[in-house]
Amino acid sequence: MKIAVPKEIVPGERRVALVPNALGKLTKAGFEIFVEKGAGEGSCYSDKEYEEAGARIAKSPEELYKDAKVILKVRPPVVSGKKGNNELDLMPEGSVLICFLETLRNPQVAGELAKRKITSFSMDTIPRISRAQSMDALSSQASAAGYKAVLIAARTIRKFLPMLTTAAGTIPPAKVFIIGAGVAGLQAIATARRLGANVEGFDIRPAAKGEVESLGARFVDAQLEEDTEAEGGYAKEVSEEAKKREHQVLHDHVAAADIVITTAQVPGKKAPVLVTRDMIEAMKPGSVLVDLAVEQGGNIELSKPGESVDVNGVTIIGPDNLTSEMSVHTSQMYARNIITLLLHLTKEGQLQFDFDDEITAESCITHNGEIVHERTKELLK
Ligand code: NAD
Repeated sequence: MKIAVPKEIVPGERRVALVPNALGKLTKAGFEIFVEKGAGEGSCYSDKEYEEAGARIAKSPEELYKDAKVILKVRPPVVSGKKGNNELDLMPEGSVLICFLETLRNPQVAGELAKRKITSFSMDTIPRISRAQSMDALSSQASAAGYKAVLIAARTIRKFLPMLTTAAGTIPPAKVFIIGAGVAGLQAIATARRLGANVEGFDIRPAAKGEVESLGARFVDAQLEEDTEAEGGYAKEVSEEAKKREHQVLHDHVAAADIVITTAQVPGKKAPVLVTRDMIEAMKPGSVLVDLAVEQGGNIELSKPGESVDVNGVTIIGPDNLTSEMSVHTSQMYARNIITLLLHLTKEGQLQFDFDDEITAESCITHNGEIVHERTKELLK
């Protein structure tokens, strides 16, 4: 069965769906792997390494997609209408596509896939259950983003992060405040702690308290009097009253911080705006904020995707596609995630979809020319 791994064409995307040292599991399972020429370049994997690991190199997208049964990608297929820039047109009818489809943000792509009778599975709708942990690409990629966000802030701020006691005097540790203590936030807390900063963490889910404290950071508790946790450990959108309370609690902690990193998200919704202009204006000049939710609308009132904004000497960074900056490892982790899902869908060398299985049912977006994913269907109504 032919697997096709294209070179990602979205500008700035350096990741690739499979890496050479992960191919063994698939060749053993009977798959024949075709990788588009140069697909691994952005992640520092050469065509030669893929060939040595048992893959064949396709010289053009046409050669790659011809007779492909399975297509493994990172980004949703580009449907631009422009000649030479429309990945969906090249995908054979009846093939199986696995990638981040992000249909909760862009449900239209599901309609296009159904029209082309492509069976699709999305890496971002895999249930967050223990059995699916090794397929959890949202977590592997978020963890890399949380790590890198701290390094970007550390490089930008004109201060040390650790406390230093030197002959030239004592330097206090930098104050780092992480808002949203999910996967990215916890990795950011751990990284800032390793760099020696004084770290505080905040989340509306009470369960986050223990996790923040176990990393040696202080938990900022807004003591919201409502249920903030949804199914699967995700956050719920909070009431207007809770938002006001959050604003009061966050104000002083943001104002006192040297670095603020925001990671707060509510699945399927625009990211909540948590850091407002008045908080930024109360910060010391030279302070740095990094908004990891900028592509989902942003947690910081003045952040802009892909830009660095200066407000009275305070720098607000809105990094886009941070995971691409870590592409050697994010591709490696993603490859492990996607292979585990593909093997989950394979029985005795053949693709078999058991829709009674929670992982298969929740990750499948389109099948037999129909959109089968309920939440995506609702968004299209
Ligand atoms: P996410 O990216 O959707 O959100 C990031 C964080 O933002 C979450 O911790 C959320 O509570 C927080 N948040 C949302 N609104 C907020 C607000 N108004 N103020 C402050 N914080 C706010 O979530 P995620 O990081 O992908 O995962 C969240 C949780 O899901 C994890 O901490 C865990 O409990 C659970 N999870 C479980 C598994 C598993 O069991 N396999 C895997 C991954 C995650």
